[in-house]
Amino acid sequence: MTPLPPLGAPDAASGRPARPPEHVDAVVVGGGIGGLVAARTLTRRGLQVVLLEASDRVGGPVRGGAFGSPPVRLDLGAESFAARGTTVTDLAEELGLDVVSPAALSAWGYAAGRAFPLPKAGVLGIPSVPWAADVRRAIGWLGVARAALDRVLPRFVADTTDLGTLVRSRLGRRVADRLVAPVATGVHSAPLDRLDVAAVAPGLLDAFARTASLSRAVAELRAAAPAGSAVRGIDGGIHAVVEALTGEIAASAEEFADSPRTDATGPIHAAVRVGQQVDGVQRVGADWQVTTTVGDTVRAPRLVVTTPHVAPLLAPWVTAPGEAEPGTVPVPTPEAGADIWLATLLLDAPELDDAPRGSGMLVAPDAESAADAGVAGDSKGAAGVRAKALTHATAKWPWLADRVRRAAGPGVHVVRLSYGRIGTTTEPPSAEEAARDASALLGVDLTDRVRDHLLQRWDGSLPPPTPAYRAQVAAFSAAVGHTPGLAVTGGWVAGTGLAAIVAHAQAAVAAL
Ligand SMILES: Cc1cc2nc3c(=O)[nH]c(=O)nc-3n(C[C@H](O)[C@H](O)[C@H](O)COP(=O)(O)OP(=O)(O)OC[C@H]3O[C@@H](n4cnc5c(N)ncnc54)[C@H](O)[C@@H]3O)c2cc1C
Repeated sequence: MTPLPPLGAPDAASGRPARPPEHVDAVVVGGGIGGLVAARTLTRRGLQVVLLEASDRVGGPVRGGAFGSPPVRLDLGAESFAARGTTVTDLAEELGLDVVSPAALSAWGYAAGRAFPLPKAGVLGIPSVPWAADVRRAIGWLGVARAALDRVLPRFVADTTDLGTLVRSRLGRRVADRLVAPVATGVHSAPLDRLDVAAVAPGLLDAFARTASLSRAVAELRAAAPAGSAVRGIDGGIHAVVEALTGEIAASAEEFADSPRTDATGPIHAAVRVGQQVDGVQRVGADWQVTTTVGDTVRAPRLVVTTPHVAPLLAPWVTAPGEAEPGTVPVPTPEAGADIWLATLLLDAPELDDAPRGSGMLVAPDAESAADAGVAGDSKGAAGVRAKALTHATAKWPWLADRVRRAAGPGVHVVRLSYGRIGTTTEPPSAEEAARDASALLGVDLTDRVRDHLLQRWDGSLPPPTPAYRAQVAAFSAAVGHTPGLAVTGGWVAGTGLAAIVAHAQAAVAAL
């Protein structure tokens, strides 16, 4: 382990002047939703917290933006949260935000050359009733006959290695390719065979162990879920959560009388600090000492790390349960996720008032291949589409439709398309390409209807939760649990999505 330089001396490695360390109660590294929730939870205990974020803004993929005109703010990344549990809803309500449900519209899928409404009563596309009419329309009688075997196959006929293998072993290939692939790969941007079941469908394996049928397990989870849609949103957009959390954490600093940071006006009380990339973590007695690339040093008895980029700096300090010395636990390194581009179009298109594809469409990875006979549905148009998903945002979110129409008049719509699957470099779509893809997926010619568009890149933000990676995370988290004053949270350990991260972040810092 590297010995610390004397306090206040220039840092030998970087040559930058080292400022004296600042002492607070807790340091949180990373200002995504995980870091913000962790910091807020600690400030509510009356602790003085400093959150250090490397980039120039907090929130990560929970981000808002607006067209030039009308200036209606909308989500440019995450736009909903899973309705399982009440953690996010409770948080939103505490922050004074209004939780809303999406319009009661079907989501559509596109697979094997066909567009079809996705079966309603499912989890990640896995149906609860294999012979339901909406399942039959999507996978045909042959598919239904195979899927129905799930109700009679013995429990041991199940391979739980990953989501794809499990679904194929119980319900057959058509369910996997046509129903589960569009949904699960749309959400996690990775192939089914890379997805850890427990990470992407919490509770499903336990329910399967109880019911001995995957479709019954899905029915059990659905029955336990809150009534209505599987997702919720926030009036004004999910990014309002980030804005409210940041405001609350920043305000907490004003209550602290002294601060080691000063400017001409006196002490600076900044709890949320951007442009602060953490590049060093040390132990000084019982404290953690964190340094940043701009020469700041913060010490605290509590350290919360919410990004995998800083995990290697923890390696020398975490001790595996049963080991005497630290430094033996491998640091989980998530694979780079898909390179994602989101194109958001503002369209003059009254033909979309009727929401021709419900709330939107998820496109299976092999959508253009494997068309086969015997499946009812609408085969119009998706050939040559590069988008992997489309959200008809003004159909899905009534709050957004109201605001857009009040500002821009009737017949104006917002449609969002996402591009990029794991393992490939994604070229940014032009507004023209996005409009062509939207036309094909929605069955309406939208090519000369684009009033404005926004383009947003999310580079590797959704690492695939593979079984091997989840096992590494479990071992590393156990070791962190044995290390005094240290917690890790965020999507890299909790799994993707606000529902998983918010609950994990609150629990992870509870014992600190
Ligand atoms: C396009 C897109 C759409 C999504 N849609 C949804 C959705 O609808 N619903 C949903 O629930 N989830 C959605 N997700 C997933 C969800 O947004 C993420 O799981 C979640 O925002 C991740 O939060 P986090 O705090 O774990 O990580 P991040 O938001 O990535 O935060 C980590 C932070 O750490 C910072 N950092 C990195 N290195 C350092 C360092 N050395 N020092 C200091 N800071 C550092 C980073 O800059 C970053 O801000 C979506 C994701 C994407 C990309």
